Amino acid sequence: MSNDSALATLNEQSKEISLLAHTGALLGWDQETYMPPAAIEERGQQQALISALIHQRITSDTLGKALEDLGVSEATPFGRGDLSWNDQRSLRALMRAYTRHKKIPEKFVREEAATASSAQAAWIKAREANDFQAFLPHLEKTVELSLQKAEYLGYKNEAYDALLDQYEPDSKAEDVARAFTSLAKELVPLVEAIVAKPAPDDSFLQKSYPLPDQEAFSKHILTAMGYDFSMGRLDVVAHPFCTTLGRKDVRTTTHYYEKDFTKSLYSVIHEGGHALYEMGFADDLPDSLADGTSLGIHESQSRTWENMIGRSRPFWQKNFAELKTAFPSQLAGVSADDVWRAVNKVEKSLIRIYADEVTYSLHIMLRFNLELSLMRKDLKPRDIPAAWNDESKRLLGIVPPTDADGCMQDVHWSMGGIGYFPTYALGNLYGAMFMEKAQSDIPDLWTRVGNGDLATLRGWLKTNIHAFGSAKTPQELLQDVCGKPLDHSAFMSYLKKKYTELYQL
Ligand code: ZN
Repeated sequence: MSNDSALATLNEQSKEISLLAHTGALLGWDQETYMPPAAIEERGQQQALISALIHQRITSDTLGKALEDLGVSEATPFGRGDLSWNDQRSLRALMRAYTRHKKIPEKFVREEAATASSAQAAWIKAREANDFQAFLPHLEKTVELSLQKAEYLGYKNEAYDALLDQYEPDSKAEDVARAFTSLAKELVPLVEAIVAKPAPDDSFLQKSYPLPDQEAFSKHILTAMGYDFSMGRLDVVAHPFCTTLGRKDVRTTTHYYEKDFTKSLYSVIHEGGHALYEMGFADDLPDSLADGTSLGIHESQSRTWENMIGRSRPFWQKNFAELKTAFPSQLAGVSADDVWRAVNKVEKSLIRIYADEVTYSLHIMLRFNLELSLMRKDLKPRDIPAAWNDESKRLLGIVPPTDADGCMQDVHWSMGGIGYFPTYALGNLYGAMFMEKAQSDIPDLWTRVGNGDLATLRGWLKTNIHAFGSAKTPQELLQDVCGKPLDHSAFMSYLKKKYTELYQL
């Protein structure tokens, strides 16, 4: 096959894979938003069919042959050198998807899905009953399958690398561990210094905030961020998420709480940050590359908007007037700075998903350390509760009273998602590194944010990060944007500066 016809074949296959993936996403979005409950069984069958079709396309001989004709292999992922930059990157992405899917036997995929489904059901019951022993056999099976999967996928140094690579391409456990260890050394004393100070008053957040006004304010902020409602929507769900249904269709969701408008607001800004990434791919980016490059980079975008922008002083100096117009009685006697302090309250807490931005990464390190020990076979699943409590004491200074509020609080391990957790904290580190560079490129960035100009930052993120989709790996992106590899220092400087001002440390 000639280069041109092999490329045409690959583009056609990529297009169909992308159409199928977006169709699957539409089914998933509908299931969480408007689907009537009785439809659940057939919806599951529809989703399984779409997944099977995608798998068939990705592992097809047609795709494999076209890659081979272009000289693409694991050792030569860009194929022969006479192709355009976009084509070369596209070949690498397709080769990666093709080999990963080929390496894992179909029998294993089915076993993994069945185990995840029964483990998740068992986890829900075990957590409710605070009964770790009931969950243990499922956890043991999940760990066994994770080790098996790592063997199928292959790795150079250690099994964990193969699992991490699924979510954070080319990242290594060793590099993550190094960054996290350095971070913990500085973060633990910072948390101690903060919690020794008086906590800000956030009681006004618990007044009653009518939902329609919350929705209007959320849409106002999303629009200011640059979220384009002509290619998106904001709907209500139980657990908020953002999903891409097409190159020009990126949806966000939220959940409103009458007694705390900040829960929904920050979830809207967070999911909006994910959405801007997906809306920002260059128009000429091939379908095979129209995706976030990793979960960590995706999370860097959501967390930058949520925490670094949405919880900044200039943001509230600008947006407080609008908020007070919407909620005049609830915010009587409250100032912009009062809101800024309240939304940045730091406390040692047990539950990861409610943690503030300072303690959050410690919750992740705890999980990462245990996962790494499990995959190195230094820790047995049955010893997780004790190990969890030890790590919690060491990193967070508190011990959960129950396993339900400790090692059984998250769904991830029941789903077989070992290797997923670190991407949350990597998002914090990447985000701070990108923002350090953005601030040096845009010296008046914070004046702009204070004047309501979020478009300049959005433009910078689009040009430097979003436009490339998954054409660059996380490491390539960091190198190109920041000129250095993963490092904890930008995140630490950001936290120290912000919280010294907030808590007068
Ligand atoms: Zn997120």
